Amino acid sequence: PRQFFVGGNWKMNGDKASIDGIVNFLNAGAPYKDVEVVVSPPSPYLAYAKDKLKPDVLVAAQNCYKVRTERGEVGEYSLCVEVSKGAFTGEQSPAMLKDLGLKWVIIGHSERRHVFGESDELTADKTLHAIQEGLGVIFCIGEKLEEREAGKTKEVNFRQLAALVAKNPDWSKIVVAYEPVWAIGTGKTASPEQAQEVHEWVREFLNEKVSKEVGGATRIIYGGSVTPDNCVELGKKGDIDGFLVGGASLKPDFVKIINARN
Ligand code: 13P
Repeated sequence: PRQFFVGGNWKMNGDKASIDGIVNFLNAGAPYKDVEVVVSPPSPYLAYAKDKLKPDVLVAAQNCYKVRTERGEVGEYSLCVEVSKGAFTGEQSPAMLKDLGLKWVIIGHSERRHVFGESDELTADKTLHAIQEGLGVIFCIGEKLEEREAGKTKEVNFRQLAALVAKNPDWSKIVVAYEPVWAIGTGKTASPEQAQEVHEWVREFLNEKVSKEVGGATRIIYGGSVTPDNCVELGKKGDIDGFLVGGASLKPDFVKIINARN
């Protein structure tokens, strides 16, 4: 059985005062049973939020760059080549997130792909390197409205996934988040049937292109206008293993979404 997973993506929202409020309701709702809970504050507040949250609530970064620590051998000495830092202004490395004690990072969010122009290839590279540093990755995929209307939903999601399959990552460290771009921040939630259809395709894709074991074990979560009102019906679908929540994760009722299956 796949453990239910609920992520809160705060995006570029919050300040110390509002984060204190979110931390209070999250801590008050703990302990959480049969669900993995991960919230993702903006970078400047990662350490601030992590220090205040109970350990039941894990913290994810919203992004990181594609550098890693490479280890090798020179004679009888093991050598650590530091490519985990360098001249990349404005970026943060997976190693830094590890150093903060974080366990997760979100990669390939549609806002990274479409506002910041990040490619399938870069997204897959970042995911591989974050995993090699020991982080878990919430790997986001999803089609735009015009792609869905042109009948390209399967093609687009499979293309985004194929870029990652080609890197042969450790799938036990990956949660796939299906977030149709037309449903993000629009109030237009995918119906449970629409979401389940794509989740089933994604699982079949993993069964075929990676292995049945990986297809069966990988959590596929849904994101896009998830609310306390629609989460229970979505969460009943067999291939929906949790949620990635934006706007509603900033409000106290987020705890209802965390407990959607309870
Ligand atoms: P909303 O829940 O605000 O639609 O955002 C979804 C999302 O993008 C989570 O990553």
